[in-house]
Amino acid sequence: MLVTERYRPEQPLDQLGAEFADAVRPADFPKLTLRFRHQRVAERLGLDRLDDAQWVEHFGQLNPLPGAQPRRLALRYHGHQFRTYNPDLGDGRGFLLAQLREAPSDRLSDLSTKGSGRTPYSRGGDGRLTLKGGVREALATAMLEALGAPTSDTLSLVETGEALQRSDEPSPTRACVLVRRTYSSIRFGTFQRHAFHERKDLLTALTRHVLGVYHPDLAAAADPAAALLGRVVEQTAVLTAGWMLAGFVHGVLNTDNMNINGESFDYGPYRFLPRNDPNFVAAYFDQNGLYAFGRQPEAVFWNLNQLAGALSLICSDEALADQLNRFSTLYREAMTAGMLRRLGLMSSGAAADQELAQSAFRALATGGDALRWEPFFFDWFCGLASQARAMSGPRSALYDQEAFLAFRARLAMFEAERPERLITPYFAQREPEELLLPAIEGVWQDIAERDDWTAFQLKLEAIDNARRAYDFPVRR
Ligand code: AMP
Ligand code: MG
Repeated sequence: MLVTERYRPEQPLDQLGAEFADAVRPADFPKLTLRFRHQRVAERLGLDRLDDAQWVEHFGQLNPLPGAQPRRLALRYHGHQFRTYNPDLGDGRGFLLAQLREAPSDRLSDLSTKGSGRTPYSRGGDGRLTLKGGVREALATAMLEALGAPTSDTLSLVETGEALQRSDEPSPTRACVLVRRTYSSIRFGTFQRHAFHERKDLLTALTRHVLGVYHPDLAAAADPAAALLGRVVEQTAVLTAGWMLAGFVHGVLNTDNMNINGESFDYGPYRFLPRNDPNFVAAYFDQNGLYAFGRQPEAVFWNLNQLAGALSLICSDEALADQLNRFSTLYREAMTAGMLRRLGLMSSGAAADQELAQSAFRALATGGDALRWEPFFFDWFCGLASQARAMSGPRSALYDQEAFLAFRARLAMFEAERPERLITPYFAQREPEELLLPAIEGVWQDIAERDDWTAFQLKLEAIDNARRAYDFPVRR
């Protein structure tokens, strides 16, 4: 296999012990067709020189990577689904394929599959992923990255030649296997599982593992579980703010879909907001709106409480509560800082920054149907440096209204951060890149009806233009 000098496999999870995972085998797929390889991510992992046949051997057939863990591991976890505890979860249609150190960040990356076949945790499921689900996930990860939210990457999509039956898609429907890169596959639900079985020894080992591998600065902490929770609270606050500022509704914020390093992953019925709407619900099966857009911070905090509950077997309640209580402040700070980043502005001091963020949200709220989410940020990127563009664009009449006059007056107090970003061709477009449902359905329609992947590729390219234009800092 043609790997580069950047290729650095390690196997800490496989070495963690037999209680954390089960060795499984991938399904034997009838026909493998490479549909997408994320070359920029592959470069960071030292995999960019694989030819397509090698790529399919490892990310379609799912053969272990050289020097990486020899076993394919379905990870064990439980979780709360819509607030009901489910002890029958676990990797039911995926496994950990490899762990590689990423360059130049030096962070450990997990390559995990989705749609790779049945495992001991499949319950009644077929272990498969629809091709449409894979396409949707590839688009979501690209868009969230472009907007500066911490997310897994979609490394690979390989169509498998199978036909699936699904109640929420016209069936039979095509199938694929997806490989994602995340900075960790350990979920809140991983801790919950070992707490459920009252295995303090495993909770302690898992805590030590997470601190040792991901947070060496905390490895010598006097109270490791509290230190770990503190770090998860910090990173999850940033993640939640990232979703809220991207206008992103995850849809299924169960504790098994939250990982311990504040990275968004596992994209099912997600939606990007067409316009500001706190009650917007992504999943048709979320009938009570538990995971509606505006309830995401509350849902995340509830999930953090469940993680704390699991850790309470090996840590005092007081120490855990102290960490949990930091969430709301950290979240608010992340929202303010994130709003400045999205608007391309430098700080004018804590008080002024907060007022700007509030003013921006008020403007978004009063924009109503006339103002889609993404154009607001596009029109006012770098503040008043964009005023002439905003006032000659498609939403100029709206921006003369009261709420926007107040917002524009606030903008006058802020300096643009790296205004040279406005010179990129992206800001010569009349409209920004968005990822609303009709666009996704359009991309899928071309694939479903004519096997035409052009719109999918063009959409990814357009999103990548946005990413390069905004050039938001990425936590690596
Ligand atoms: P999700 O809501 O996608 O995060 O999945 C919740 C649980 O159901 C996890 O344990 C998944 O592995 C499992 N699961 C989801 N879809 C399937 C499927 N088609 N076959 C087997 N297990 C599945
Ligand atoms: Mg999941």
